[in-house]
Amino acid sequence: MSYDITKIREDFPILSRSVYNKPLVYLDNAATTQKPLCVLDAMREEYLNVNANVHRGVHWLSQQATELHEGARETVRRFLNARSTTEIVFTRGTTEGINLLASCFSDAFMREGDEVIVSTVEHHSNIVPWQLQAARKGIVLRVIPMDDNGLLDMEAFARMLSPKTKLVSVSHVSNVLGTINPVEEIIRLAHAQGIPVAIDGAQSTPHFAVDMQALDCDFFVFSGHKIYGPTGIGVLYGKEEWLDRLPPYQGGGEMIEHVSFEQSTFERPPLKFEAGTPDYIATTGLAKALDYVSAIGMDAIRAHEEDLTRYAVSQLSAIDGMKIYGVPADADVQTLHHDAVISFQLRDIHHMDMGTLLDRLGIAIRTGHHCAQPLMDRLGILGTSRASFALYNTREEVDGLVSAINRVAAMF
Ligand code: PMP
Repeated sequence: MSYDITKIREDFPILSRSVYNKPLVYLDNAATTQKPLCVLDAMREEYLNVNANVHRGVHWLSQQATELHEGARETVRRFLNARSTTEIVFTRGTTEGINLLASCFSDAFMREGDEVIVSTVEHHSNIVPWQLQAARKGIVLRVIPMDDNGLLDMEAFARMLSPKTKLVSVSHVSNVLGTINPVEEIIRLAHAQGIPVAIDGAQSTPHFAVDMQALDCDFFVFSGHKIYGPTGIGVLYGKEEWLDRLPPYQGGGEMIEHVSFEQSTFERPPLKFEAGTPDYIATTGLAKALDYVSAIGMDAIRAHEEDLTRYAVSQLSAIDGMKIYGVPADADVQTLHHDAVISFQLRDIHHMDMGTLLDRLGIAIRTGHHCAQPLMDRLGILGTSRASFALYNTREEVDGLVSAINRVAAMF
């Protein structure tokens, strides 16, 4: 399928609405994406015609619902190029995936004094779960430093690895800077010392193809709602040999093999980690969303968004007093390797003022610390304005953003 932006935008009716009598320009996609009709239709159809609890029922509806739910797991497997559906655990999202990992991994493999390495650019959801475990078990959080443009200091990282390091957990793409972290190199260096690596793919999966077998990471998490799927559903991928060795996360139905009052035995992964009735409607929605992006093609999406990002960086840089974080001032925009996220600051205009005034002009961006306060501290700022792109955004919308920023600039 060629990249037919008009047709794509028709799949997202919300994009045609207006706010404050202005056409909506939705540039807050790193926070959440809009949903195509096929996702909404599939979920409505399942509630209307198939709804029944999965896995346990002998009856027809339950079997149909189970087929959809387990079929969705296969769709996720294919999307990630994982070896087996046993490696695909459904979660509520990236945050729950990392909490699950932090809890189960530290229970199984970490003692007081052992270390987890994260990076300066992490979202709070890849910091706080480890801190909770640190408080309980005395494990230590180490942080890969970065330069002023958000590039991780790989020499410092190499020096940090030691027999105390039990896991490296880093984001694939920064949700603030849009920088693409050198995860291949991180995995290579960690694996050379037998250390497993977890990747937070919340901001990479929507924008370019990810391949678990090529990447060779040990764990990978992402959220459905950031890739055109519903809220409340996400995925934890784990290599089978790791998932097999982790203890359960929560207890309840679905995750057991046999229960008595004396003791219980557990299912094999992935069900071992999926206590309770799963959101089987959301898994259908997620699978539809993954089918949707796959039909357009992740490489085509990447090319479209790369063009938008480069165009936006070049247009925004031309505004007097503009600072874009995570993009070196002398970067060659034409070859910029940067994800679809742009964090900026214009002169001394407060980001809250910028966001509020752009909103009045119909443009939805994000302002603040973006759940990455340690990164803000490193940059010496309190927050940024962030515009983030999705497969349905256009150059005209970037033009709209630029002229709106110019209008705001003229007010101060
Ligand atoms: N990690 C990154 C890099 C993110 O951008 C986000 C969402 N902003 C998260 C984790 C958390 O995702 P969720 O809120 O969907 O669990």
